[in-house]
Amino acid sequence: MKQLITALLLYFAVIVSSHAAAWVKLNDQNTEKLMLDKQSVLQKDTLKRAWVKIEYKTPQNNPETIDKTYNSAKLLWFFDCPAQKVATAQVFQYLDNEMVYSAAIDAKSAEFIDPVPESHVDIAMRYVCKPEKPVVVAKPTKPEAEKTKPAPAKPEPAPEAAKTEKAEKAPEPPAKVATKPDVKASDDKHKTHWTYQGKTGPDNWGKLSPEFATCASGRNQSPVNIDATTHAALKPLKSIQKFAAKDIANNGHSVQVNFKEGNMLVLDSGAYQMKQVHFHSPSENTIHGKIFPLEAHFVHADSKGNLTVLAVMYTEGKANLGLAKLWGQMSKEVGEPVALKNRVTPSELIPENRSYYRYSGSLTTPPCTEGVRWLVMKNPMTASKEQIKALNDVIQHDNNRPLQALNGRIIVE
Ligand SMILES: [Zn+2]
Repeated sequence: MKQLITALLLYFAVIVSSHAAAWVKLNDQNTEKLMLDKQSVLQKDTLKRAWVKIEYKTPQNNPETIDKTYNSAKLLWFFDCPAQKVATAQVFQYLDNEMVYSAAIDAKSAEFIDPVPESHVDIAMRYVCKPEKPVVVAKPTKPEAEKTKPAPAKPEPAPEAAKTEKAEKAPEPPAKVATKPDVKASDDKHKTHWTYQGKTGPDNWGKLSPEFATCASGRNQSPVNIDATTHAALKPLKSIQKFAAKDIANNGHSVQVNFKEGNMLVLDSGAYQMKQVHFHSPSENTIHGKIFPLEAHFVHADSKGNLTVLAVMYTEGKANLGLAKLWGQMSKEVGEPVALKNRVTPSELIPENRSYYRYSGSLTTPPCTEGVRWLVMKNPMTASKEQIKALNDVIQHDNNRPLQALNGRIIVE
C-alpha cells in the first residue's frame, strides 16, 4: 500500500470539500470520533463507496510523514459488501484543518482487507452495506455460489451507541468462510522431524527437507543480535491487544497460545491480525549481546499471509500475571490446544511502552521462511524465576535457534 498510495494529489482536496456533506456520527469514543457522509454513499460497479471523517483528540502520527502529525482525516473507502472487505482509495490528513498529507490510489488497485471487528472500517462497512432498500437482484433459481452469497446480516449498532475501548467482552467475530490458510507457523504439525539439538538440530535444518532449504541458504534469517541500529524515528506501534486468547497447546517445540480475530497491529504496509503467541527460552534475538531468559513471539498475518512477529523479552523479576494464567494450563504432554479458562489478553504480555526495533527476517523454525517483519520491543517485561523454569520444565530443553548473520541488513529504531 505504501508504494501504491504515494501520489500527492492536493487537487482532490477541492473535491472533498465541494459536495454538500451530510455527516452522520457512527462511533464516538473518548479518543476519536468516526463520521460518515451519507450524501457521498455511491454504488460504483460492484462496490459501494463513501467518504468518512475521523477526528482525534490527540495528534496522530503517520509513518510516512515523520515530522508531521494530524488530528483529523478524511478517507474515501470502497466496500465490497458481499465479500465484507474494505479498501482505502484516498486519504487526507489535517492538523487543525490544515492539510498535512494526502494520498490516493485507484480503487481497482487498492488492497481490500477484512476489517477488524469493531474497527472504524468495520463499523462503516456495517452502515454502508446494511441492506435497507430492497436491492434489485435477479431471483436466484439455483443456490448461489459461495462468493455471491450475501454476508450474514450483522446487528446494526444502535446509533450513537459508543463502544468504549474498555468493553470487557470481545465481540464474537463474524463467522467467515475460512478462505485464508492459517499462519504457516512451522510450529504446526510438521512432516519432517526437527529438533533444537543433535542431528536434526538447527545446523542441519536446511538439509532435513527441500522445504527447509531456506534455513541454510537464506540471507535474511532470524534471530539476530540487535546492536548497531539506524535511527528512523519509528513511531509508537498502533495496535489492538484487548481480545482474549482462545486456547493453549504444547506443540513439542514451544508452548503456543492461539487468538481469535480482533487483535491487530497497523504498519505502513497494512493491518496484521494477531494469530498466536509462543515462547522461547532463552531468548532467540538478543539486544546488544544480551540474552534474555524468555522471549515471546506474537505472530501476526495480513490478508495475504505476510507475517509480522512482535517479540517481547522478559527479564527475571516480578511474576507476570498473564503468564500465571496461561501457565496454569500448560501441559507437559504434546497435544491439541485446550480452551483457556481464564481471560488473558495480549496487553498483559506486551509492555506498555511501544518503542521497538525493526528488521526484516525469517521464521526462526523450519521452514525458516523469509520476508517476515520483526518488531522487537525495546522494553522487557518481567517473569518470575519459577515462571521461566516452568516453561523449561514443560519443553525440557532450550528452544532457541542460534543467532544468524545480518548479511548487511539494517536494524532501525
Ligand atoms: Zn518463535
